[in-house]
Amino acid sequence: MDTKAFKRSLQKSENYHRKGFGHGAEVAGFLNSEYQSSLIQQIRYHNYQLKRGDVTIRLAEAFGFCWGVERAVAMAYETRQHFPNQRIWITNEIIHNPSVNQRLREMEVGFIAVRNGKKDFSVVDSGDVVILPAFGASVGEMQLLKDKGCTIVDTTCPWVSKVWNSVEKHKKRDYTSIIHGKYNHEETVATSSFAGKYLVVLNLAESYYVRDYILKGGDRAEFLAKFKNAYSPGFDPDRDLERLGVANQTTMLKSETEQIGKLFERTMLTKYGPAQLNEHFMSFNTICDATQERQDAMLELVQEDLSLMLVIGGFNSSNTTHLQEIAIEHNIPSYHIDSAARITPGNRIQHKPLGKDIEVAENWLPEGQIVVGVTSGASTPDKIVEEAIEKIIKLK
Ligand code: SF4
Repeated sequence: MDTKAFKRSLQKSENYHRKGFGHGAEVAGFLNSEYQSSLIQQIRYHNYQLKRGDVTIRLAEAFGFCWGVERAVAMAYETRQHFPNQRIWITNEIIHNPSVNQRLREMEVGFIAVRNGKKDFSVVDSGDVVILPAFGASVGEMQLLKDKGCTIVDTTCPWVSKVWNSVEKHKKRDYTSIIHGKYNHEETVATSSFAGKYLVVLNLAESYYVRDYILKGGDRAEFLAKFKNAYSPGFDPDRDLERLGVANQTTMLKSETEQIGKLFERTMLTKYGPAQLNEHFMSFNTICDATQERQDAMLELVQEDLSLMLVIGGFNSSNTTHLQEIAIEHNIPSYHIDSAARITPGNRIQHKPLGKDIEVAENWLPEGQIVVGVTSGASTPDKIVEEAIEKIIKLK
């Protein structure tokens, strides 16, 4: 399928919208009252610090809602205002935040259910309005909705579209896209649908494995088993790793994406020499500013003498998980929660340790003076951060 031509024709269609509907001002007031927090504003003005009794809160200097998410949420609210009587669906959680998604449910925006691992679009009729979330949707889904005659409101973040453009460039020149991401994350599913040949690598360890295969060869069957579900149909590591382009899921750990890019550049340099490098490697900077800023602020915060770190964001939010990884790398006890309700009386917290299921920690707030570092992922409203801070202060 010519994905570029499809996108062009979709964008020309009168049933396709990727800008608001002119209700921005009304919606802004509504969003402010639902998601903003005066306490957080106050902490920002006081050098990102708040002291109450034994508790000092240190907020990261960049955290919470990024503009891509704000834009997507605002567009979803505007869509409801603009189409008050039509059925509205969203192909996935608009962002990875339970309270925002709950609010949309209350506004009668339906979520497409997943049955047997597949989204069930049978509920969507011609004339329904369908919102595509901030991390996008695959070409197949867009095509299906267009064919059904739906009105599409596309809130895909422009940073994500930028990655799609770069994999289109790889495809045009017959390069295989190496995508740093999680193969089953919605954004990576969408990105890979625009790619030609692709291989998704989760981290540096997987990238080293691919590098070794490129330089020394290896067991083809083992390679294909290891990356099962993470490559394009018909992918052959013996044939398809000669020309590489690097792309990323925008919310991955920035330093790791950069290292992966450099690793493959060096690999192709070693194999083909400097004169041939451009024929075998291409890369564009597609790391989103918001992800980068939040990670940089976290790297600064963990230099301080913190008793513990509270990381707030959806459990399936990739950028939030990466913030927690930074705390762990710096040996700071860290608690990832998705809402303030996880902090319960009796000095207990229900939290999700990295890579594990939710568990309960007792006496998580130490006695005496404590300094609590706080950050939140790009899809977490300030209101939720405020509620968590208030609860900590109350508990102490
Ligand atoms: S984290 Fe970046 S790519 Fe993702 S929605 Fe926000 S601005 Fe866009």
